[in-house]
Amino acid sequence: MLSTRPTTRPVQFASDNYSGICPEALDYLLKANQGDAPAYGDDEWTQKAADKFREIFEIDCEVFFVFNGTAANSLTLASLCQSYHSVICHELAHVETDECGAPEFASNGSKLLLAQGDHGKLDPADVQRLITKRTDIHYPKPKVISLTQATEVGTLYTPDELAALTDLARHHGLKVHMDGARFANALVALGKTPAELTWKAGIDVLCCCGTKNGMGIGEAILFFDRALAEDFAYRCKQAGQLCSKMRFISAPWLGLLETGAWLRNAEHANRMAAYLEQQLSTIPELEILFPRQVNGVFVQMPQPLIDELYRRGWKFYTFIGTDGARLMCAWNTTTEAIDELVKDIRDAI
Ligand SMILES: *Cc1c(COP(=O)(O)O)cnc(C)c1O
Repeated sequence: MLSTRPTTRPVQFASDNYSGICPEALDYLLKANQGDAPAYGDDEWTQKAADKFREIFEIDCEVFFVFNGTAANSLTLASLCQSYHSVICHELAHVETDECGAPEFASNGSKLLLAQGDHGKLDPADVQRLITKRTDIHYPKPKVISLTQATEVGTLYTPDELAALTDLARHHGLKVHMDGARFANALVALGKTPAELTWKAGIDVLCCCGTKNGMGIGEAILFFDRALAEDFAYRCKQAGQLCSKMRFISAPWLGLLETGAWLRNAEHANRMAAYLEQQLSTIPELEILFPRQVNGVFVQMPQPLIDELYRRGWKFYTFIGTDGARLMCAWNTTTEAIDELVKDIRDAI
């Protein structure tokens, strides 16, 4: 007898990088596929995409495109540090928990120092403790604060909270890196401008969401302080992160920015997560674990329920930030998929 239970589903909640390429990114990808163009980023698409970032962020920043977020974060941190420096990040930060030591590898040994804080956000007092703990020659000198916006557990730093951390950094001569794998989700949720959430708040470098927002491949790196980008192109090339047919990363980026799709995609994902949260909050057996502010809902479920949902073909992670289930929404999440998931949860309970 054939099983009626699907083992694969068209929409999943495991990660926003399960989603496909959004129409606008795909449209520009196809447009860029007409005729030849100069390689290694010397093409018109790359020029236009970089200029569009400068316009949207209201600053003449240096812009680079790499294949993924791990490379963006690692190479950026490496460029801000010498090997004897250290980077202060949250204990749940992607650079610590999900990059297989790439930041340390790329920087020839810069050490990550782990700070604490509620809801995945750096607590300035704990950051200050780490900065001032030691000043002797035997300890790796703190040089960068790395923060994630939105955080790994789907929460947000307000502009004031960002300012508190960046003021602390300035005061002690540190630089500030923002992991913005979900920067657009934060942007639309906070209703601020890209400038207000980055360089105007004291951020030196932003690694900006391409893949999770709706691209097939590719993250952007924005150096608001151009001096910090010195020789960064060489670093990308040496690390195997200089795409020779660069236009196939930059053109989809231009598509996202020029059409506003990056904001619409983020808004949609956030709205879907709000709907999912609302549905789940009516089920007494479940506990929502963090304030839902962007496109993820973290929920504590009984283990038998998790097992049953997996058996029914649902995919999601249970090790990110907590031992609860992380349910992510993306540009293509539908209310139908959410209703199906919620129905399966109710049935299984
Ligand atoms: C997904 C993600 C990244 C990038 O991961 P890659 O798999 O290397 O593209 C970086 N930071 C955070 C917070 C992420 O969620």
